[in-house]
Amino acid sequence: MRRNDLLSEFSYLFFPNVCAVCGEELLSSEECICLRCLYKLPRTYNFREKDHAVEKRMAGRIPFERIATFCVYAKGGVLPPLIHQLKYHQRSEIGILLGRLYGEDLRGSDFLSPIDLIVPVPLHPGKEKQRGYNQAHMIAQGLSVATGLPLSAGNLIRVVYNPTQTHRSRTQRWENVRDIFRVREPKAFQDKHLLLVDDVITTGSTLEACGIALMSCKGVKISIATLGEVY
Ligand SMILES: [Zn+2]
Repeated sequence: MRRNDLLSEFSYLFFPNVCAVCGEELLSSEECICLRCLYKLPRTYNFREKDHAVEKRMAGRIPFERIATFCVYAKGGVLPPLIHQLKYHQRSEIGILLGRLYGEDLRGSDFLSPIDLIVPVPLHPGKEKQRGYNQAHMIAQGLSVATGLPLSAGNLIRVVYNPTQTHRSRTQRWENVRDIFRVREPKAFQDKHLLLVDDVITTGSTLEACGIALMSCKGVKISIATLGEVY
């Protein structure tokens, strides 16, 4: 056995070349997901319409410009196993791939054209250390590769949870929740239209808290992109 063959045998043991959704063996042209599962991704294409369901749901929460979600996160569908592997099975490349696919959809759209910077939602520092990466950062990386837009990670930060807050009053605790995120250098985001990126949008409270922190930057505009929307 040649050395290269041996190496590929080894890599197969650690990274079996099978579809992350259906488990079928992948062709050499396929990456993480087989073509059949890729076609089954329930893409929303909602970046093409204004005032769609998710935008209506988030209206009045933070002054965002637009929201776009790549796919519907439906139980038994193709997206949940992908998000699960991305978050809990060290498959960071799935985030990059899905971000890239979404970026290819968004390229040249009215949704994307005003955006200056891509900003991933920061993960709790403890969780990031445990996981080894922030999944939103991986998605943002894929989006950045496909669209050519710069990525800014590290300016919007997540403040470490302070356990002493349990002794505080309810109002103070609410103030604290609003204060989970902070912008290190507001000037870097000044007059910029940011694309805030996360894996899925559920209640929208994380994105809302990020939005509150970002509003401290003068002249900032916020749009949101997530891989999945959950109802
Ligand atoms: Zn498959």
